[in-house]
Amino acid sequence: MIPYGRQDISQDDIDAVIRVLGSDFLTQGPEVPAFEAQVAAFCGVKHAVAANSATSALHIACLALGVGPGDVVWTSPITFVASANCALYCGASVDFVDIDSSTYNLSLDKLRAKLESSAIAGKLPKVLVAVHLSGQSCEMEEIKKLSNIYGFRVIEDASHAVGAKYKGRPVGSCEYSDITIFSFHPVKIITTAEGGMSLTNDPALARRMELLRSHGITRDSSEMANSPHGSWYYEQIDLGFNYRMTEIHAALGISQLKRIADFVERRRQIAETYDAELSGLPIVLPFQHPDTWSSYHLYVIRLLDMGKGIEHRSVFEALRAAGIGANLHYIPVFLQPYYQELGFKADEFPNSMAYYSSAITLPIYPGLTRQDQRYVVEELRRILLGR
Ligand SMILES: *Cc1c(COP(=O)(O)O)cnc(C)c1O
Repeated sequence: MIPYGRQDISQDDIDAVIRVLGSDFLTQGPEVPAFEAQVAAFCGVKHAVAANSATSALHIACLALGVGPGDVVWTSPITFVASANCALYCGASVDFVDIDSSTYNLSLDKLRAKLESSAIAGKLPKVLVAVHLSGQSCEMEEIKKLSNIYGFRVIEDASHAVGAKYKGRPVGSCEYSDITIFSFHPVKIITTAEGGMSLTNDPALARRMELLRSHGITRDSSEMANSPHGSWYYEQIDLGFNYRMTEIHAALGISQLKRIADFVERRRQIAETYDAELSGLPIVLPFQHPDTWSSYHLYVIRLLDMGKGIEHRSVFEALRAAGIGANLHYIPVFLQPYYQELGFKADEFPNSMAYYSSAITLPIYPGLTRQDQRYVVEELRRILLGR
């Protein structure tokens, strides 16, 4: 099976991990701060806080922004469940903004309309989690303007967009957001196996996330309630978690980061080849907003004129039968049984439902060979045109 995504591990990556295994620190050593500093420098942002997953990073980002019971967090329905779950972890509730039917990111028009009606109803969101689907940034400058008008905070879920750019600057610079989250899961742009990171230009938010990542414990006397009892002394000043990244994972991340430009370049080449070779088929190719430069975590096509559901499903099954691990990113979060229990209605999100009935993720990853990609194109042609 040709998967839709997979990691690319070099001998240098393996050597970096093995070196750490023989070192003094498996956790809480020098690798994590070095990885944080390198990612921060890469993105042109002041602070970076590594975590054991992007899900953990999203959780502590929400907490750091003060999300709690009574608050509402908005996000896109076309995302991984973690973009919404982070709010529920904090005791807040979630609502969704339907997607734009060309970028598949949350729709600015729908966002504006929902903000206007929510302002009247007096239930504006505390935080908006803007998800950069496939690696294409949301229209952050516009989102930032709305956040200034309506007073909500902004988290970019850039799990897909490590190495991407918006208006010529790296995603992660947080120019238009409070916090940006990266994921380093193996299917993502660079990997630490499991891992994530929160980026911010706000030192207070960074410090809050550092504390929450590690039990809410401080060894800094200026943060303590009491004066230290002795050199062993530490204080728990908040209710935190153990969300730390290990030294082993950080060493892999440092080694992977060296190749990020190549990874993104290769993904963009694959996308360009698909764009050229799939044109003329009854499908919609990925639209790229002129302000964005995608890292192409995903290559999503949509079937045209195929009627409903069943044909979409049969194209999928034909691709899988041909050994092509086509996938669907994502099932709208509100359709998940857990969210259905919360009372969400699919007809409030028509663009997400239309997307769900027509989207297919094709394989894209740095190690995808020219030959395998040609095979994917030929099979798709055969399935869609019957020849
Ligand atoms: C992968 C992903 C996450 C979660 O990342 P983990 O590192 O696996 O916790 C969150 N949001 C989006 C959009 C993702 O794709």
